[in-house]
Amino acid sequence: MRYGIIADIHGNLPALEAVLEYFKKEPVDRYICCGDIVGYGPFPNECVDVVKKLENCITIAGNHDWAVVGLEDIYSFNPLAAMAVKWSRSVLSQENKEFLSSLGDQAYEKDWGIVHGSPRQPVNEYMFDETVFRQNLNHMTKDLYFIGHTHIPLYFWSVPNKRVGSGFFLSGKEFFIEKGISYIINLGSVGQPRDGDPRASFGIFDDVESTVKFVRLEYDLEKTQKNMREAGLPGFLIERLSYGR
Ligand code: ZN
Repeated sequence: MRYGIIADIHGNLPALEAVLEYFKKEPVDRYICCGDIVGYGPFPNECVDVVKKLENCITIAGNHDWAVVGLEDIYSFNPLAAMAVKWSRSVLSQENKEFLSSLGDQAYEKDWGIVHGSPRQPVNEYMFDETVFRQNLNHMTKDLYFIGHTHIPLYFWSVPNKRVGSGFFLSGKEFFIEKGISYIINLGSVGQPRDGDPRASFGIFDDVESTVKFVRLEYDLEKTQKNMREAGLPGFLIERLSYGR
């Protein structure tokens, strides 16, 4: 089975549409969405509508998804993120709020799991480094997790003697998942990448070939920025899309 892996869409419809267009050329059987459909971007309703209608999509909640529906308090959010959450809350339809409220914070299949943050703190923990990864090893119930939240594409691995490591993916290249090794994989953010590359970031997991392919894709980011301006969203959030920061 081939899975399209998307995370941190953050209300960026042009990015999401470009990614789904890509999957027409490289078809997948199912989708995995690692949370944060909304927040930051100008198209929260549109993005929820698209994800809701995706066939065979496993979706879990991110901190922004829950914050807009009041299931997560925004005191831990930076002021600009909190402003965007409040704006998203003001425009989201009741039906879409109900959809976001219904999302769980983790999901599992036979051999893998998905969370937004980390196995230890599914919604809120940032996994930027090997120290946090090591602290999470005892919380992993599967050998493979897909996560989001940091918006930085990165993988972490651990062999049974608890030796750990991490690495970056190469765009367009396949990464092999080896038996007996534990992995936590973040394929980056569709709608607000923060690794210095403004292109949408996502991937494809093939559980038969045991591979993960990392993909970067250009999209019409000026369209997103124009709509953010019209919505009165903070300038910094608009600018950062140009730099992928
Ligand atoms: Zn996010």
